[in-house]
Amino acid sequence: MQPGVNDTIAAIATARGRAALAIVRLSGTDAVDVAARVFSGTNLNEAPSHTAHFGYVKGKDGDIDQVVATIFRAPRSSTGEDVVELTCHGGDLAAQLILRRLLEAGARPAGPGEFTQRSFINGKLDLAQAEAIADLIHATSTAAHRVSISHLRGRYSHLLSELRQELLDVAALVELELDFSDEDVEFADRQRLYDILQRAEELLGRLLGSYTLGERIRDGVRVVIAGRPNAGKSTLMNALVGFDRAIVSPTPGTTRDEIEAEAEINGLRFRFVDTAGIRSTEDAIEAEGVRRAQKAIESADAVLYLYDVGRCLDDDQRRFLDGIRTSQPALPLLLIANKIDVAGKRVDEGVLPMSALQAMENESALRPVIDWLMDAVADNLSSSDGSAIVMNQRHLAHLREAKQAVVRARLQLDSGHPGDTFSLDLRAALEELGAITGEITNEDVLDQIFSRFCIGK
Ligand code: GDP
Repeated sequence: MQPGVNDTIAAIATARGRAALAIVRLSGTDAVDVAARVFSGTNLNEAPSHTAHFGYVKGKDGDIDQVVATIFRAPRSSTGEDVVELTCHGGDLAAQLILRRLLEAGARPAGPGEFTQRSFINGKLDLAQAEAIADLIHATSTAAHRVSISHLRGRYSHLLSELRQELLDVAALVELELDFSDEDVEFADRQRLYDILQRAEELLGRLLGSYTLGERIRDGVRVVIAGRPNAGKSTLMNALVGFDRAIVSPTPGTTRDEIEAEAEINGLRFRFVDTAGIRSTEDAIEAEGVRRAQKAIESADAVLYLYDVGRCLDDDQRRFLDGIRTSQPALPLLLIANKIDVAGKRVDEGVLPMSALQAMENESALRPVIDWLMDAVADNLSSSDGSAIVMNQRHLAHLREAKQAVVRARLQLDSGHPGDTFSLDLRAALEELGAITGEITNEDVLDQIFSRFCIGK
């Protein structure tokens, strides 16, 4: 893909399979002309922008389909070029035959993300917004959708460009001082420089800190449910996901392998992993299950550890819990005393008494577990519009570099001697921020980003 090339590309924009409608898109200098060559109805070449025309796409041996052709003329189109959208009937064939016809008439097949790449090149959206489109298409939870749409609307880019502008002003003043270094003048107010750098550091820190949540929003939250066989793990998982996925049995040790099930809770996608019971055992199969449970906990975002309130935690269990706390001190772990419907409710402080069986029937019995989970893994999600949540690993790397450069600059200011390297550090931070939104980029990076898109986007 070559930026700046505006030959006419065509692709099917909708998913394959049976559906009421499908859309075939064209973009490029000859888009209208190519469409006009295959269309019978109005003369599309004379059609004004933003008009829709009913007609037929003609094949060599007769009509292919009845369509509506919508014309968008440059620059008022999604790509900034002439765009034609042919809305035809759904199903596998009509759209493909139309596409083939358009290729015969002079268009070439679009590469992955090529329409979006042209939107970026023509300044219709910046790189972070273009990436938000891919995130939106891949979103599998309400929260991921909300963050992507906020980024697509440009709120995240706006935060970054405001920051970039402030740093740019500072860099310009400092560079001016360097130009006049013989005359010992100070154009930049030191306190103001310091304040700006501190604000930048704080914002970059906040953005970097949001990535853990961003990753969870993007990929889902992995919650491991652990405990002795028969403690009620499968029952709790079924209550959490709302249907019978795990096998629930009164015989200890039924859940020998991991069972995963997903559920969207409060907008986030949770992946619950029901592990084999943790028990020191001679049984080889069960011992393997226990080992896998320990492995599952290593990559968990949170752990729910259940025990039967009728039996106290024994030494094996305490050792197991201590092991987790020592090796993963930051891992949120909730101890749940289960089956309080049969035994008393008195439990140690910090332990949640519940009845997983009742939670199957009554959602309010599940509420304390859900509230704990939201606190533990998605703090602040509900109060955020998503604009300051980073979900993209490419951005994370640039934000880290930008923050380091800002810190280096601030330290120089602290020392009272901002010199040549001060402005170099500011420039480095500016470049890193510019790389996120695409002010500064190169073809390899663009190709890598847009190759993640589907064809037709
Ligand atoms: P797991 O081996 O830890 O997955 O345990 P299960 O979920 O298979 O539950 C074992 C048995 O305990 C089943 O008969 C469940 O119905 C029962 N059970 C689970 N939770 C509760 C509870 O809160 N109260 C009561 N009375 N029984 C429960």
